[in-house]
Amino acid sequence: MLDRSVCGHTLSAWERKDVERGCMNAAAAACRAVQYWFGEKTPMAAAEALGLKIRCAKQDDLFGSKNILGFYDPKTTTVCMCEDTITSIEQFINGQGLNDLLGRYSIFEVALLHEIYHSLEDRIPGIYTRSRMLHRKIFFVFPVRVGLDAASEIGAIHFSKLMSRLPFSPCVYTWLLLVLNGRTLPDAWRI
Ligand SMILES: [Zn+2]
Repeated sequence: MLDRSVCGHTLSAWERKDVERGCMNAAAAACRAVQYWFGEKTPMAAAEALGLKIRCAKQDDLFGSKNILGFYDPKTTTVCMCEDTITSIEQFINGQGLNDLLGRYSIFEVALLHEIYHSLEDRIPGIYTRSRMLHRKIFFVFPVRVGLDAASEIGAIHFSKLMSRLPFSPCVYTWLLLVLNGRTLPDAWRI
């Protein structure tokens, strides 16, 4: 995900490690802050305490997209959760006999926590996952700074894992969705 997220700019092994460590640290700090502020509140209650509006949407509201579990709209501070997409993963897990392995966790809460992290990024100026830039040179001479969109996603994924105490990566849900929808894993997501 990281290596291919900077439009033609390859990350060195050192940069990759450095960015991964920075994202994990930012997510862990956000996790500690939320636990300090809200204790054992549910993700729903924490979202409400943060002033976020929660709206449930259907795939039809998202132009038929079957791959979106939720998204955060910073303009309206609204988290939109796609109910039928979440339900389709739950049914797939159930239908494939994966309940013992994957079925005891709330996909809704994991996806909500992911979006809560994006909302926290808006509130924390200079947070690593929004501000990390790569230094590059155009034509080997002119210095430029290149943004790193994947840092935000890595932070949100790690935050939702920590907060929900999930014993596996939340990416599993997205991979299941791709399988469910007959799609192959994008190159950008391969490890
Ligand atoms: Zn995200």
